This record gives sequence, C-alpha cells and structure tokens, in this order.
Amino acid sequence: MGESKAEGTPSRQAITVRGTIDGAELGHVLMHEHICCDLTNPAWREAPATLEISLETRFELDYRPMVPGHHVLLDEDVAAAELAAFKAVGGSTIVDLTTGGIGPEPAMLARLSERCGVNVILGAGFYTDTYVDEGTKSLPVEGLAEIMIGQIMDGAWGTDVRCGIIGEIGVSWPMTPFEERCLKAAAQAQLATGASINVHPGRHPDACREICDVLERAGADLSRTVLSHMDRTHPEDVDAVIALARRCVVEYDFFGIETSNYWMGVVDLPNDWMRLRALRRLFDAGLGEQVCISHDICTRSRLLAHGGHGYRHIHANVRPLMRDRGWSEAEIDQMLVDTPRRLLTI
Ligand SMILES: [Zn+2]
Repeated sequence: MGESKAEGTPSRQAITVRGTIDGAELGHVLMHEHICCDLTNPAWREAPATLEISLETRFELDYRPMVPGHHVLLDEDVAAAELAAFKAVGGSTIVDLTTGGIGPEPAMLARLSERCGVNVILGAGFYTDTYVDEGTKSLPVEGLAEIMIGQIMDGAWGTDVRCGIIGEIGVSWPMTPFEERCLKAAAQAQLATGASINVHPGRHPDACREICDVLERAGADLSRTVLSHMDRTHPEDVDAVIALARRCVVEYDFFGIETSNYWMGVVDLPNDWMRLRALRRLFDAGLGEQVCISHDICTRSRLLAHGGHGYRHIHANVRPLMRDRGWSEAEIDQMLVDTPRRLLTI
C-alpha cells in the first residue's frame, strides 16, 4: 500500500512543527484543519462573546455560527483531548492551515504535538484581505514570498517552528490585489522550497479557475496545489469539480457539517453522503489521486468538548460509511494516506 505512490525515494521528508520526519511516518492524515486559531472577523474584534455554548444554544450555533467568540480555538487542554481522540481512531497527522490573519500558534502546536504524539504540519502565508494587517497588505510579491520561504526554511511567526505547506492562502471573490500578489508569492515559495500549496477560493463558481490561472502563470506546480472547500464552491456541480481535478487537487473539507444552511452565502450545503457521492464520481473518472478530504474545524461547537464531531469524525464515522457503500480499502487509503503523503513530502 502506498509505496508506488510515494513519488521516488524513501528519503522524501515532511516538515512538522517538531522537525522533519520520513513520509512513511505521516500515516493517516487530515489535510485541512485548525487546531489553534482565531477566525473572528476583524469587524467583531471589540464585540463580546454573545452566546455561550449550552444544550440550548448548540444547534443554533451550528446553524448560524457567525457569533463573536465562537471562532476562537485556543484552549490547549481542550485541543489535547481532541488530538488524543483523533489518535485513538488511527489518526497520525493533522495539517493546521491557520495562516497570517487568523491566529497561527506555532509554539502551542509544537507543545500539543509533543504531548499527544500526533504529527502537526503548519501552513505558511496569509488568509484573505479582510483579516490581514495594512503593513502586510502593502508588501510586494517578493516580500510576501520571502516571508513564506522563511517560514518554511527557518521558522514562523517569531519562532523556530517551521511550516510544511503553503496556505491556506485566502482568496475572496472578487480577488483583491493583495490576494493576487499572495498567490504569486506562494508560487515563488513553492519553486524555492518544493512545498505544496493550499488555497481557500472565493465564493464563486469561476474562482478556482482564476486561481489556477494566476498560479500557473506564476510558475506553480498545479499537481502540488490543493483547492479547498469544494463543498460550498461547487455544491451541486460535480462536473465542475471533475474538470478542476484535471488541473489541480480538489478538497472536500466540510465533513461533519450535516446542516444544509450555509452561513456565508446562499448555498445548499451537501451532507457527508452527498460528499461521498461526489467523491465516487471523481474516483470513477480516474481522478482518485487528485482528491483530499478533511473537516476544516474552526468553531467550538464542532469540537467533541462542546458536543461536536471532533477531528476523529472521518476516521471513526466516515470510513465505515465508505466501506458500507463499497469503497475499497485502497481507495480509502488513497485519500487518507497516499495523496497526503505525496503532497506533504518534499
Ligand atoms: Zn481552513
């Protein structure tokens, strides 16, 4: 399993928050999560938390999560329990794509990784325009690339904890000038380091195509580029996802969100079964090596501690669903082991 897809020699290494490891040690991977983050919209930063999580408010928070304080994941003991639960169902590695603007915590991630025995890989670069400070937004492509390369080679956010992937690079719709420079910088950082890129696309059916065009013109390797959030970008148009997967890697990363109401736009969100049906079509089209899955946890009510599904959900619950629906072990491992290993090793 996996050996033929590891792309070359066993010496390919992944960069974790505790140093480099052999690709084989990555094991079962979640490719897009947030363990420590603060995704509070800057417009709310002064507002107090208005809704405590209780049995009475939990459904409301899942249905309409845009509540101040709800997007802050900074409780180290809560995070440790979540990682332990992930490890208990066979998980080994979590990619934390918390980039500049949404509260990356490299030192806390390194402590959690050590404490729980779970590999953590942190993303380099910046989130969308709305979240980034004016100084960063004024930097040219070269300046942004220099920061990203430094985060991968030397350490991120004032620490010696290195990033192991670029992104999630945040892009809005329409794409802002800063976001376009950030994509070009990500391409330069990829050329310099070999790291993969993950992009959070704008909420529009044309967003992913435009992002791929910008990256490609800037010299990025689209075979090592992941476009996130297919669930809300192309919720019903699987043909569009199939077309995109012929250019880059596509990611369904809302697993565990079982509500149809999308809180950031007029979109009918799929549930886990619908995601699996879309993924089946990608595999049947011969694109099984071009797909990642994850939960993109970034709110408190999705954590086990607050009655949510936690980082364990895909391994504990979705894997059995896939077996019930006739997926082979090799296909499941393709998404959870082999493709992550290809993308995360350099
Ligand atoms: Zn994310």
